[in-house]
This record gives sequence, C-alpha cells and structure tokens, in this order.
Amino acid sequence: MTIEIAPGALMPIALIFGLLVGSFLNVVIHRVPLGQSIVFPPSHCPECEAQIKPWDNIPILSFLWLRGKCRGCGTSISLRYPAVELLTGLLFAAVAWRFGPTWWTTTYCLFAAALVAAAMIDHDHQIIPDSISLGGLVASLLVVPAIQAHYGEVWLEALVRALIGALVGGGVLWFVAFLHARVSVAMGREFEHWPGEGEDIPRPGEADYWLWFPGLGLGDVKLLAMIGAVVGPAGVVDTILASSLVGLILGGAQAIARGALGRPFGFAPAIAIGTVAILFLPPFWLLRVL
Ligand SMILES: [Zn+2]
Repeated sequence: MTIEIAPGALMPIALIFGLLVGSFLNVVIHRVPLGQSIVFPPSHCPECEAQIKPWDNIPILSFLWLRGKCRGCGTSISLRYPAVELLTGLLFAAVAWRFGPTWWTTTYCLFAAALVAAAMIDHDHQIIPDSISLGGLVASLLVVPAIQAHYGEVWLEALVRALIGALVGGGVLWFVAFLHARVSVAMGREFEHWPGEGEDIPRPGEADYWLWFPGLGLGDVKLLAMIGAVVGPAGVVDTILASSLVGLILGGAQAIARGALGRPFGFAPAIAIGTVAILFLPPFWLLRVL
C-alpha cells in the first residue's frame, strides 16, 4: 500500500510540514535541555517575555516580515530559528523525493527531525537528551519492523535486525570509548575533565568503569543505538564510518577556525550529517550485504 497523494504534491507538502516541524524543533532544542515543558508556556520572547502571536510564529516568513526583530522590544531574533526551520523543511522534501509516497518517508522525516534536535542540543550543551536517543530507540524498534512487515518482510526477522542494528551501533561506539579509556589510563594520559576533580580513575567493580569515558559521552552511544535500530546492522556500520569522516572534517575546520585543537565539541552533529548521508547515498562501502 502507498499513501494516496497527487503526483508532484508530495515534495511541497513535505517541505511545508518540515518547516512547521522545524519551528517545533526550535522549541525542543531550546527547552528540553533545560528540563522545561515543550507545550507550556506558549512561545515567548526571551528578552521581553511577550507572547509570540500565531501570525508572528509562521516558519521563515515571520522572521522575514519582522526583519529578524521581536515585535515587542526589537531584540534581534537569532538567525538560527529560521535556519533550523529551513533545514528541516529541505530535509523533509529531500526524504519525500528519495522515498516517495511510502511509510518510509513518514518514518525518515521523523528520524531526520530527531537527528536535527540531537545535533543542535549536543552542539549547544554537549548532551543528548535520553528522551530523544532512548525514546527514539523504543519508537524505532516498534515502528521500523512494523513497516518492514507491512511491505512484506517477516516481522520477527525485521525486529531482530533492528535489535542487532541497535546493539552494533551502540556497541561499536561504546567499545571504542571503553578501549580508549583503558589504553589512556595504561599510558598515563591525563584529561582535564576525566576523572572529575578529586576523583579516582574508576575501577572494574564500579559502574563508572564501564560507562564513564573521557572525551566521548554515553549520549553518543545511545544515539547510535537508536540510529542502528532504524538503518540496520550494515547501515549503522556505514553510518559510523561516514560520521567519523564528517567528525574529522568538522573537528579540523573548527580547529582551524579557532586556532586550537582538542576543544570539546559534540559528536552528534557529525553523526547526524553522516546518518543523513547514508539515507541518501547508495552503499559506498562493502558492508551493505546484511
Ligand atoms: Zn521581545
């Protein structure tokens, strides 16, 4: 079955829907890391607290006719808001173009939205909320095998594949982080933020030994588990390779821009870009046989 829709209408609909979802993502990106509700209170100017009227809250257009300023106090609105809206809209349109009128378009649009939120929050706060990574993992394990079954695959096989994808995605990254921590300790390498001030290096009997690593957060591990559930075991290996490549490029560019190496930066933006690339690119490593 496909979703009935007039030919040619799918991409514009996806674009508009993406702009609206992007507007919602701005709220998520701003509020979720602060532990605030995403529904209440309604959007308001952070400067003068004035509630934003519905007609001043239209993706991109409002930013343009308000000339990037709050109607109440004239404070500049960050370009990031329309940028996130536009990015999400374009991603949705691209997904619709690639996957057509199928349930995969719906699924991958939501998937892309989760990646945008995770990347931006990680960029701002160096954390990835569990509600996105673990919430997304649970949702993916429910939805992805169900769609694959809908399109004729055996549901149980699809579920096992999603579970293996999650284990491979999270597992590979966890293993790299774990190994890096142990080798670093063995070589006597020191880190500014690991272990914390006055704390000892964790021992095998403590949970921290298995779950707390210098340089790489467990949030990335959980995010890649979620991604693995969506793209499967082979896809997630491609994704990790692509993300590492993007991470190297982003890290290098940041080092050049700031003139300093080794500043902490969230890895999720690289993971998000790598994952989106994998959704669109034909298999470019030999690992897509599974
Ligand atoms: Zn204001």
